[in-house]
Amino acid sequence: MEQCAYIGLGSNIGDRELKLLMAIAELGKLPQTKVTAVSPFYETEPVGGVPQDNFYNAVVRLNTELAPLELLDRLKRLETEVFHRVPSQRWGARSMDLDILLYGELVFNCEQLTIPHPGLAERRFVLQPLSDIAPDLVHPILGKRIIELLTELASPEQVVRI
Ligand code: ADP
Ligand code: MG
Repeated sequence: MEQCAYIGLGSNIGDRELKLLMAIAELGKLPQTKVTAVSPFYETEPVGGVPQDNFYNAVVRLNTELAPLELLDRLKRLETEVFHRVPSQRWGARSMDLDILLYGELVFNCEQLTIPHPGLAERRFVLQPLSDIAPDLVHPILGKRIIELLTELASPEQVVRI
């Protein structure tokens, strides 16, 4: 069955804007998947304390028939095969990070995959672009709209629309 999924994109190595554009094109090439919305792009401060360049972040909405673990597998393959992502320290620099933020109203947790994404509600670099394309979407665990989560967010991270 076709589902609506939201994917968070982030890059802080190389031509970050081009990387986001390439990732959107690659998402559109996935089988049984269509890109149905793209957020504006944001330049954002890295979180987690590892010194590194600013990120570019965006969020994309997909209509997909891929199951959640199948989608995750496809995203990981894009990270490594198309963007040559190398394993790095947690919170470290990456050529491309593709995260499943939400998948319909699914709440799911296994070793490789947690949906909704556990960092979603605390990260301005995710909530800001997500609220641009889906402000009224309700977080299936917290029961709050994305725009409310963004408004309530206290963290001071800089997120600048490019
Ligand atoms: P992060 O995105 O948290 O900075 P990574 O991209 O290195 O770090 O992801 C580490 C692992 O997180 C992945 O190998 C994946 O199995 C797991 N993971 C758990 N939930 C998700 C999700 N919703 N989307 C993407 N990856 C996830
Ligand atoms: Mg990731």
